[in-house]
Parts: sequence; C-alpha cells; structure tokens
Amino acid sequence: MENLLINILFVLLPILIFQIFYINTDSKYKNILLATVFSISIIICMNFTITNYEGHFFDLRYIPFVLGALYGGKKVAIFLYFVILVYRFYIGGEGFYIAFIDSTLLLIILLFLLIPKYQTYSLKTKISGTMALLGIVAIISLITCHTLFGFILHAPIVLLSSFVVAQALTMGLSVYFLEYLITMDTMKKQLYHNEKLKSLSEMAASISHEVRNPLTVTRGFIQLLKSPGIDDEKKITYLDLSLQELDRAESIITDYLTFAKPHENIELELLNVTAEVNYVANLMEPYALMQNVSITKEFFIKESYFLGNKKQFLQCLINLSKNAIEAMQNGGKLEFKVNKENEKITIQLTDNGVGMSSEQIGRLGVPFFTNKEKGTGLGTMVAFSIVKAMKGEIKVKSRVNEGTTFTISIPESVSTSDKED
Ligand code: ADP
Ligand code: MG
Repeated sequence: MENLLINILFVLLPILIFQIFYINTDSKYKNILLATVFSISIIICMNFTITNYEGHFFDLRYIPFVLGALYGGKKVAIFLYFVILVYRFYIGGEGFYIAFIDSTLLLIILLFLLIPKYQTYSLKTKISGTMALLGIVAIISLITCHTLFGFILHAPIVLLSSFVVAQALTMGLSVYFLEYLITMDTMKKQLYHNEKLKSLSEMAASISHEVRNPLTVTRGFIQLLKSPGIDDEKKITYLDLSLQELDRAESIITDYLTFAKPHENIELELLNVTAEVNYVANLMEPYALMQNVSITKEFFIKESYFLGNKKQFLQCLINLSKNAIEAMQNGGKLEFKVNKENEKITIQLTDNGVGMSSEQIGRLGVPFFTNKEKGTGLGTMVAFSIVKAMKGEIKVKSRVNEGTTFTISIPESVSTSDKED
C-alpha cells in the first residue's frame, strides 16, 4: 500500500514539474524535459514495486510511459520504451519477458493508433481511452504469457485485479490532471490577451486624441511663425518641429486608418486569399527595396476563400509586413507563405530580422507599445483585432537576432466557395 502511494506520487510529480516549466510552450527543450522527468519517474516506480510476485513486478511504470508518449510524441515514446526495457533487463528475472511484451504492445498501439490523433479527442475519450489501454494491455499480456511461455502467475486473482484497477484509476487521474493544467494555462493566456485587445472602435477615441495632439502642436508653431521679427534660426526650428509632428500624425494614420475605418459599416465579402496576399506583397515592394529587403512568395494553395472585410484584411497584412521590413534594417528576406491546415487558411510572414524576446512578444498588441523611436505601437494591435474580428488567430514565433514568423489562421468559407466552382 505504501509503495502504491509512492508510485502515484512519482507519477503525478513530473506532471507538476512539466507544468511549471514548459506547459504550452513551443520550446525545443520541451521534449527533452518530458523524456527526462518521465524516465526518472519510470525508474522510481520500478524501484518501489507495489508487489513482487515470483519475479514479476507490479508498479505504475506504464503511466509515465503513456503520458510521455501522448504529450511528447513519437520520439519520447521510443526513448521511454528503451528506458523501461533496459532498466527491467538490469533488474533481471523472467518477468522481463512479460515486461517486453507489455511495453512493445503499448508502444505499437501508441505509435500507430493513439499519438497521431490524441490531440483531437475530447477529455472524456482521452481519459477513458488511456484507462482502457492499460487495462487491455495488462489482460492481453497475461493471456499471451500464459499461452506462449506457459508462465502461470500464481498471484491471487484479487491482487491482480486490484492492481489493474488501481493502475487504470491513476492513469485516468493523471490525464485529467494534465489536461486540466493545460486548459487552465490556455485560458489564462487567452484572458490576458483579450484584456489587451479592445475592439477597433473602442480604440478610436484614444487614437483621434493621438492624432489631434501633433496637429495642435503644429498649429501652435505655425501661429508663432506668423509673429513679426522672428529670426531665421527660430523659424527653422519651428518648421522642423512642425514637420516631425506631422510625420507622427501621418504614421498613426498609416498604421490605423489607411484602409480600415473603425466607424464605417463593415462589409464582409468572400476574399481570395492568394490574390490579397499577392496584392500586399507587390504593394510592399518599394518599401522593401528601400531597406534592401527582398520579398518572396510561396502559395501552396491556388484558390481559397474566406469571409472578411477587404480593406481591413489588407491593413492587417500591411501592418505586419511593415514591421517585418522595419525589423531588417540591414536588409534581409521577407517571405509570404499561404497554405491550408484543417479547414483553416494559414498565412505566414517570416522575416530574418532582429526578432523579439518572449517578454516583447507578450507585449505585442498592447496599444502604443513600441520599441521604435518614431513608432506608433498601433500596427500589431490593429492587426490582432482585425484577425480576431474575422474569427481567426495570430501566432508569433520569434528568436532574437534570428527572425520572426507571424502566422495568421482564418477559417475557410467552404460552403460558398464550393458552390462557386
Ligand atoms: P510600431 O511598429 O509603430 O513600433 P507595432 O505595434 O507595429 O508598432 O509594433 C510594436 C513593436 O513590436 C515594434 O516596435 C517592434 O519592436 C516589435 N515588432 C513587431 N513586429 C516585429 C517583427 N517582425 N520583428 C521584430 N520586432 C517586431
Ligand atoms: Mg508597426
């Protein structure tokens, strides 16, 4: 009993460690961390055998194995498989053969049946599926060992079945626990993000304030210029300041109002994604040339339609590509990629510019957050709210000094485009 509790503890502990460091991140170390903590958990489980019956060990080692495989993927699965086999072989005894059959069976089911589709299952299916998996594997392995090798496990049936039940329950509990932590984390991030994203029209008031300021300042300088007896030096300073302020007003309008007018009635139409992206890529060409940036396009789909407002969509792409070009002060490459993934159209903008730290990525979309001397901090905010209004999503991946990828995904309007062709 005591060892059962120790086993459960060491199955749940890695889940916590995993959550603290790496839940929901795309870090390349995620799988290494997963493989390490679950290997440790497997070895500890095997050291604290719940019952040892004539060289057959009962413990919860398969739970970290299954968890690692389902949440880490195929490589982690294969790695954990070998950890179990090698360690079991090192312990010795004829129970190794049962362990070999069990884990191979599990590995095959995981690799070919569960891992490819696991993320699409509902929580209930995930829990009941993994519970059933361990139950079935335990039963199959007992039967095959009995018939193939003639092992007769003399363990009392009560002990065997209570072990199978305890194992299944812990499995279900662990999946529930992990899923719960992942959902909480996703919700927290979404909530945080929604908080930042006020809708375009809500923003309008503060934007017009931002535009009015430079205009008022400019007006003041022009009035000063009118006064008699002003010397030339002062004149030039006033003119320079006025020009600066006008530039500022202009850049706010470019980022915010070039196409999208917040109060305008927003008309939705079917847009052909490749045509729109192509248009923007051409439109940005002169600006890119000025900064020594070359633009490339890759369209993996020919025609695909989605519902959106044309002007807003163009504004969104322009803001993002403008940022990408501005991130490459010493020249570089801006790449547009259009593709389709599970009924969603994806548009990727990749640059090899200065990149962003994760702290900077977190602040993207916050109005007036800018790292540029003459920045407005409106471009990404506007782009984010436009995509949100189209029921789409923007994901950002970036590495400092390596570059940035913005991925927009929007639901494809299947029904209408189907009728059209
Ligand atoms: P602005 O461009 O006026 O600064 P934005 O909202 O468009 O305002 O961008 C906010 C900040 O996000 C930028 O100042 C920049 O630091 C960062 N940023 C946005 N896109 C990129 C990118 N592709 N590469 C590097 N940094 C970026
Ligand atoms: Mg910008």
